Amino acid sequence: MSSKVVECPAVWIAGASCSGCSISLLNAVSPSIKNLLIDPVIPGKHVNLRFHATIMAGQGEPALKVVRDTAAQRAEEYLLLVEGAIPTAEDGLYCTIGELEGEELTVREAVSELARSALAIISVGTCASFGGIPSGSPNPSEAKSVKEVLEEEGISKPVINVPGCPPHPDWLVGTIAMVLLNGLPSPDDLDGALRPKAFYGKLIHDNCPRRAYFDSGQFARHTGEPGCLYELGCKGPVTYADCPLRLWNNGVNWCVGAGSPCIGCVEPGFPDKLQPMFKKLDETALERFKISVR
Ligand code: SF4
Ligand code: SF4
Repeated sequence: MSSKVVECPAVWIAGASCSGCSISLLNAVSPSIKNLLIDPVIPGKHVNLRFHATIMAGQGEPALKVVRDTAAQRAEEYLLLVEGAIPTAEDGLYCTIGELEGEELTVREAVSELARSALAIISVGTCASFGGIPSGSPNPSEAKSVKEVLEEEGISKPVINVPGCPPHPDWLVGTIAMVLLNGLPSPDDLDGALRPKAFYGKLIHDNCPRRAYFDSGQFARHTGEPGCLYELGCKGPVTYADCPLRLWNNGVNWCVGAGSPCIGCVEPGFPDKLQPMFKKLDETALERFKISVR
């Protein structure tokens, strides 16, 4: 790496998650994951990913020590990326990331410790952002979002939520690039749920190619049929994301384009508040759900 390139350290901690957010990031196309890990993300700036349990070669205590060293040596400079919700029952013992000097290090402890000296925290995916599936009823591990845990601990560091089950790779790469380019986002750059408006500022329903069907009352009765998917449970009318414009899998398609209703995976309260998944929203849904703060 040229000495002219500024390195931004990053630590990725995984809590209660399916690792789908990591898998989605591995599918980044432009830049690719190889570009992300090795090259500058933007000219002159490179993300130095120091810890990621799934994709790093290091393991055990030496790898965990890198995390501690980053917090000590690069305080207020590194990004803390958290994937997954944070189990809090039994002092967080339902989810640990390893052992240090014979002591289990819980995700709750790791996130709290690292957040205190981070530049900012990026919650990757709906579980880290809002609790997601691990915090769904009955939630025996008392899983919580990163923001909730930080509030309980009295830690007031900037948090950016990049939800999605999983998030689109562009949403995460774009958010990191925005921080490297412009510094931390201003309050105007984020919505009420701390999501970057650049990616989550538009209602899916307003940009859906099936919108003309909705407006003319032509509704599909089965998945795969032409027509609006509202009566099959589409949550596009209460979901904010740019899926219809950005598309997934390198611009190939998206949920509604493939014939599936949007299930509202980026919204606070997903999945519980979006249930029943395949039943239509009733007329008072917008008011009743109150799932997006604008
Ligand atoms: S398919 Fe969903 S997002 Fe598209 S117009 Fe119908 S209700 Fe709206
Ligand atoms: S269309 Fe809806 S369910 Fe599909 S990825 Fe986008 S927000 Fe999630």
